[in-house]
Amino acid sequence: MKAEIDAARQCLFCRIRDGEIPAEIIYREDGVLAFRDIDLQAPVHVLIIPEKHIASLAEAGEPDDELLGRICRTAALIARRESIEQSGYRLVVNNGPDAGQAVDHLHFHLLGGRSLGWPPG
Ligand code: 5GP
Ligand code: ZN
Repeated sequence: MKAEIDAARQCLFCRIRDGEIPAEIIYREDGVLAFRDIDLQAPVHVLIIPEKHIASLAEAGEPDDELLGRICRTAALIARRESIEQSGYRLVVNNGPDAGQAVDHLHFHLLGGRSLGWPPG
């Protein structure tokens, strides 16, 4: 438990949540927070996170089911607000080293506004 608390204290996205690091926050409701990625990979690139610290998707448990559902629905809402609902968009979770997860706080990338290649490199 103590290790978890220490991880959360140092966590970049927990610090954004707490206003200690600036970010362009575009949504905050019901334990879900969304802000623009600092290094845009598409015209719309938003990170959607649970406000509570969960290190990765692998760390999410059954009690988080509702929260995970809310995050997905928030992605769809933001896509509508960002006017990419019709053109299309992608929701991505990088989990672990092979996926290139760089920040150990669960986050969903919402990407859109351009044609996205598949499969990812
Ligand atoms: P990952 O590779 O872990 O799936 O994605 C982490 C994302 O966080 C990257 O797209 C990266 O650009 C973004 N990021 C890293 N540091 C910051 C920051 O300080 N502010 C914001 N807004 N995004 C960040
Ligand atoms: Zn965190």
